[in-house]
Amino acid sequence: MKSGAHDYIMKDNTARLLPAISRELDEAKIRKRRREAESTIAHLAHYDALTKLPNRTLFQDRLKQAILVANRESRMLAVLLMDLDRFKEINDTLGHQCGDLVLQQVGMRLCNVLRRSDTVARLGGDEFAVILMISKPEDAELMAVQITEVLEQSFLIQDIHIAVEVSIGIALYPDQGTDAQSLIQRADVAMYAAKERGSGHMIYTVDHDRHNPRKLSLMGELRDAINTQLCLHYQPIVDLKTNAVTGMEALVRWQHPQHGLIPPDQFIVPAEQTGLIIPLTRWVLQEATRQIRLFHQAGIQLSLAINLSVRNLQDPHLPRLIKEILEVSGLEPFWLELEITESAIMINHANALKVMDQLHDMGVKLSIDDFGTGYTSLGYLTKLPIDSVKIDKSFVIGMTHNDKDQVVVRSTIDLGHNLGLKVIAEGVENQENLNQLASFGCDEAQGFHMCRPLPAMLLERWLTDGSTWGNKTVSGKMARKHL
Ligand code: C2E
Ligand code: CA
Ligand code: CA
Repeated sequence: MKSGAHDYIMKDNTARLLPAISRELDEAKIRKRRREAESTIAHLAHYDALTKLPNRTLFQDRLKQAILVANRESRMLAVLLMDLDRFKEINDTLGHQCGDLVLQQVGMRLCNVLRRSDTVARLGGDEFAVILMISKPEDAELMAVQITEVLEQSFLIQDIHIAVEVSIGIALYPDQGTDAQSLIQRADVAMYAAKERGSGHMIYTVDHDRHNPRKLSLMGELRDAINTQLCLHYQPIVDLKTNAVTGMEALVRWQHPQHGLIPPDQFIVPAEQTGLIIPLTRWVLQEATRQIRLFHQAGIQLSLAINLSVRNLQDPHLPRLIKEILEVSGLEPFWLELEITESAIMINHANALKVMDQLHDMGVKLSIDDFGTGYTSLGYLTKLPIDSVKIDKSFVIGMTHNDKDQVVVRSTIDLGHNLGLKVIAEGVENQENLNQLASFGCDEAQGFHMCRPLPAMLLERWLTDGSTWGNKTVSGKMARKHL
């Protein structure tokens, strides 16, 4: 056959086949696009768009798979649920964009610390979860510690160092649950327990569950209870050179009609989360200034320390409120000392500093509470309008048997003094502690060894009764030097 004829036949066939081929090609393209679309949808349905980590749905699937494997191989596994403490403040104060960047970096840090075979997921908001195959419960705790360490190194975002804290709840298979749902739920309960106790991480126990529902219903009751069921206990603060009692710290409690006296650890954090901390602090300020005035009128000249929370420091109305409360009570501002934690200052630092400056200008004293547990360097303190630092009780309690704690205590005292600050130690539980602090040159101390926090009436009796703690004298009789 001549090539021309061949060409013709070929052309003829091609001409006939072309529509079919192009139809098939079109269909293949459509199928490919559909597959791509399906896989995009599947990805979106299973992965979190912001961090690219598995989402809650995929996490649950993976957990079910992991439980099957653990069951088959008679192994343990751990579900770790974590939540960034006070992340909302970062979002509210620095903006969502900044919050998103923090979440992305949290995701990356988690992936770096875990093995490739472990699952890490973002369940939503600031909540992350991890599945670990483990051989003993301590493995899960070790991982929780590692995670805490990597997440608590500050994040540098838009030239701002942002500190986050994390609370981790742990539930173990098979001990604390044999299905995905109950493991997630129990890790969640343990996480709230860890958050409440500020303990970093916690393995689930039945006890947590017992407390949890109560906590939820309590929060509903707190709003109405603020003006009627809260009460204040006062803990004296002593001067270590003279042994004189110079001040007292007001510590809030909730006298609940059914549950008895509830300590602040159980309601301050939820009150911060719900915003109830604002009316709660107002009540504490009003009640404590009223009480200190009564003491002053009775010749007991003590200063008054009050705790502020993160939210208070972000409240631009706070200085005006305090001014009004001081006017109503007739208390001179230098008697009032406001205790602020390091983390409260670091969160939206510009706003916090503005409020602190205004308070300082009014003549109110400011103190850094729980010093040593946050990220503030002592050098940074020079930039703050503060008068004193309070060394966190964990170091003071630990210093008799732990050299590192002792170093923290000593260097805080020395550097604090170099910066012209008064240094107060809290958590003094025995005479040895007290002697040590005095020998280090610490200015003031507070702790169970001298006196537990007491209702005002009992404190008054303690102050005037020579037998309770031998050496004490009250500043009313030993004129307090102020200003
Ligand atoms: P904080 O400000 O560090 O208060 C000191 C806590 O240490 C108090 O616990 C006190 O009872 C306890 N403490 C005192 N001496 C010793 C000691 O020698 N050993 C030990 N182990 N503990 C000692 P409390 O009264 O349960 O208060 C816990 C926390 O609740 C306070 O810690 C503070 O952060 C918060 N809080 C209390 N009242 C208020 C308040 O009115 N407003 C705010 N925002 N927070 C408050
Ligand atoms: Ca305090
Ligand atoms: Ca403290």
